[in-house]
Amino acid sequence: MAFVCATGKHRKPGRVKRTTVHAAGVAALTTTGVIGTLAASPALAAENTAEQTGLTPVLAATDDLAEHIDAQATAQQRIAEHEAAEKAAAARAKEAREARARAAREAERKRLNTFVAPIAHSYVSTGYKVGSSLWSSGSHTGIDFHAATGTPVHAVGVGTVVSTGWGGAYGNEIVIRMADGMYTQYGHLSSIGVTVGQRVAAGQQIALSGATGNVTGPHLHFEARTGPDYGSDVDPVAYLRNHGVNV
Ligand SMILES: [Zn+2]
Repeated sequence: MAFVCATGKHRKPGRVKRTTVHAAGVAALTTTGVIGTLAASPALAAENTAEQTGLTPVLAATDDLAEHIDAQATAQQRIAEHEAAEKAAAARAKEAREARARAAREAERKRLNTFVAPIAHSYVSTGYKVGSSLWSSGSHTGIDFHAATGTPVHAVGVGTVVSTGWGGAYGNEIVIRMADGMYTQYGHLSSIGVTVGQRVAAGQQIALSGATGNVTGPHLHFEARTGPDYGSDVDPVAYLRNHGVNV
């Protein structure tokens, strides 16, 4: 089908021409027998006669088609723009989600790797493996932090409390399984503030220091262990320093 416009006939068709097109349309319909009587109208027949050049109906149809194509192109353009905008929005949302996930992972990594000293503003008064008749093993299985009775004791890192209560020579004690799989123990406490199964954060107060058990004076006994029980101790200073604690 070729859409060829005759010279000087590019303008939008006038009322008469449109009528002609309609008449042609109606005429076409008559073949179906639906509106047979309209084609017989004398006025329409006259118009038909006046415009029987054969060009006008084709031109009118061509202009209508051009308008239709224009409208379709505009619609397609709008759809394309809409799709592009949706894609851009989806990309931005994905980027934001990924940024949030990265921030959450970073915060979690930071949370798990944050360690503090069990007693703030204190110092180690007795070192690891120091020999003394005071300890049943003959040498110190942890370190002592200088602390008056009633000083807040903090979990050194994120973990879960695995035992609390009387620990013989250790007096009142708490053992925590750390997020890295190691254990920390806090002894000679005057008061225990956590229960078994409780999750604790780095720096969270878990007890008050004291002088319970086998002691010559108040302090906090602190151990780092590979397991929950006595005898699995490792160097607690090295453990804390490996986690960035200045002791
Ligand atoms: Zn000790």
